[in-house]
Amino acid sequence: MDSLKRGAILERAMKLIEMAMELAKRGDMDLSREYVNLALQYASKARVKIPLRYKRTFCRKCHTPLIPGITERRRIRSKILIRVCLTCGWIRRYDTRNPTRLKGSKIGRSRHKDREDGINRRS
Ligand SMILES: [Zn+2]
Repeated sequence: MDSLKRGAILERAMKLIEMAMELAKRGDMDLSREYVNLALQYASKARVKIPLRYKRTFCRKCHTPLIPGITERRRIRSKILIRVCLTCGWIRRYDTRNPTRLKGSKIGRSRHKDREDGINRRS
């Protein structure tokens, strides 16, 4: 697949996520989840990565768009942002002191050993 087509698919996927957010705000949860699922399917078929800022707008587990106060609870405790999906109970912690750590769950590729301390150590 050429890169031009991939770009178009990625654009479509991002659009779908935006639409899913709108739907979720209006309370149409089932449809909004479907839109997110569709976006993920597009991205995986084209082997493109959905940008982080889009990825963070929905729950990784149940794919519900996360809207604070509606489908998501946000809390900051000692500089750690805690996001809870109210649909499935998925919890994610973000270290607000170090934005580079916001990079989701995959840290396997990190070249620097010192990245592995801190927020990634749960429990
Ligand atoms: Zn969820």
